[in-house]
Amino acid sequence: MSASVSATPVRLFTPGPLNTSESVRQAATQDLGSRTPEASALTHSLCQALLELAGCDNRWCATPLQGSGTFAVEAMLTSLLAPDDQLLIIENGVYSARMADICQHQGINHSVLSLPSQRGFDLEIISETVAQRPGITHLAAVHFETGLGVLNDINALLHLAETLGCAVLVDAISTFGVLPIDYQSPALVAVAVSANKCLHGIPGVAFVLSQTAALNRDIPPRSLSLDLQAQARILAHSGQWRFTPPLQVMRALQQAVTEYQEQGGQAARHRCYQARMTHLLKGMQALGFEPVIEPQYRAPLIVTLAPSSGRQVNIQELNAFLLDRQLVIYPSQLSTPHSFRVGVMGELTMKNLDELLEAFQLYLDEALTRQSPQSPSQEIPQCP
Ligand SMILES: *Cc1c(COP(=O)(O)O)cnc(C)c1O
Repeated sequence: MSASVSATPVRLFTPGPLNTSESVRQAATQDLGSRTPEASALTHSLCQALLELAGCDNRWCATPLQGSGTFAVEAMLTSLLAPDDQLLIIENGVYSARMADICQHQGINHSVLSLPSQRGFDLEIISETVAQRPGITHLAAVHFETGLGVLNDINALLHLAETLGCAVLVDAISTFGVLPIDYQSPALVAVAVSANKCLHGIPGVAFVLSQTAALNRDIPPRSLSLDLQAQARILAHSGQWRFTPPLQVMRALQQAVTEYQEQGGQAARHRCYQARMTHLLKGMQALGFEPVIEPQYRAPLIVTLAPSSGRQVNIQELNAFLLDRQLVIYPSQLSTPHSFRVGVMGELTMKNLDELLEAFQLYLDEALTRQSPQSPSQEIPQCP
């Protein structure tokens, strides 16, 4: 595996697309006819693998569709909400704000509860809001707001929703495969996921996992291509997608899921990301950068960092310096000056993290022409 990573010229510390393994990329290089038994088997086995990976029982089904994660979120909201349903969107970041945008575009009955974006959502306020706004049937929320790197306690929201009698729709795009959700909760009716985040696939295919009963409600379709019910019905009937399936991307995802399972599945990937994040934070703290979000709201996926007091960083210059070395970090979504994001997802090694830390050190030495603390370059055991 380290061989495949060292053959990868660019190292992406981004939440997705992210670095993939050589074998995953290879899997995407073969032609395949869409109306073949092999293509139908591929669709079926991917859907089954994702349901199994999530821990869904037989009340659940998986519906695939073309596109990035946003397509899955839009399909979920447009296909599973009836005209007289009332959705409350718990908004505490860009991805939950995008849900509101989708509802606006699609004319879906909704209201928004806007909460502070630098912390996980507050259940008490959600509970009060549902009490104050009668008629709310559904809640929608994001598991991990990837924009700032803020974790929401989705399982606690599910348990609250059970007591409130609301159904919950979740965007778990940046957590699926690493942070579990309680699929046994009767309140949970649908979850949007995509290939190119914690599963380490390439972008182009997304899925909505849903309770079959929620998918089969009598809801007039709002969209042709994002109609999950039609997609599921025709798939079940003929084994065929309605429109050209992203077969190469699906092959790559199948390979990625195989590797994920071989490496030990959810617990192993979580441990691996955790080890990376611990190493990254230790190194960045030694260089004078601190996480912006408090520890209880962070997850070992992506972190927003800002210089501790006094230090000034020209982010554009820093990005260019890193890019010259084939290292890609992400812009911050904070107005806090000099902040940026670093992700630990994807096919990265501890060595790649050290390369990033060393480049930061070099940048600080060169660009700021001042003495920086020692770079942490001790041998760290590799995790898969
Ligand atoms: C990546 C991501 C999405 C999907 O964004 P795309 O630009 O469509 O890939 C949605 N929600 C969350 C939380 C994400 O991290």
